[in-house]
Amino acid sequence: MTVSRDPAGRWFVSILVEETIDPLPTSSGSVGVDLGITTLATLSTGEKVLNPRNGHDERRLVKAQRALARKAPGSANRAKARLKVAKIYARITDRRRDHLHKLSTRLVRDNQVIAVEDLTVSSMIKNRHLARAISRAGWHELRSMLDYKSQWYGRELVIVDRWFPSSKMCSSCGTHRGPLPLDIRSWECACGASHDRDVNAALNILAAGLAERRNACGADVRPQREPSRAGGRR
Ligand SMILES: [Zn+2]
Repeated sequence: MTVSRDPAGRWFVSILVEETIDPLPTSSGSVGVDLGITTLATLSTGEKVLNPRNGHDERRLVKAQRALARKAPGSANRAKARLKVAKIYARITDRRRDHLHKLSTRLVRDNQVIAVEDLTVSSMIKNRHLARAISRAGWHELRSMLDYKSQWYGRELVIVDRWFPSSKMCSSCGTHRGPLPLDIRSWECACGASHDRDVNAALNILAAGLAERRNACGADVRPQREPSRAGGRR
């Protein structure tokens, strides 16, 4: 048992237990997840999961931080102001974590296979803004929740770790299109398919994840001598 207190002055008691968690019945569902900044996650089903709204608390946080900066170092007022900042920050963090728990639980409950892109790839996006830093922290937290919940419930989390142009490839015909600036949210392929940028990326992540999983399974199941059709790609 561990007792701790966070910067917002809240006491926590954590209890470490060992228990056996029964896996969920096998599901026929599979989902690809594209992580984003304005939209937290776009699913291959077409669903968009937004970030929780913190507008009010974010404005309060900016005000409280300004007030803190004006207080004399070492003063009692400074300690009070610091506690206020910590409390608002904790509310934002708690709300975000709650949101990520709900999303990860739902994804794991409804799907046997969950494919997400490698975060080191996503991190290549230049990170200059606070919003992006926060998004990235959220992605890591979500990924970690998906990881342990998948293990608990007998699901597979597939990390698509190849650098592939998930948003630039048509998920219907596989054709790569030219440059796709970030402000283009939807596009039409020559094959006639029209794509929402993020849904198309999520579909490609799902396809890549399923292919990776098939290859991994094939390596286990097929005899070594058989010509390796297991590695066959489209
Ligand atoms: Zn196409």
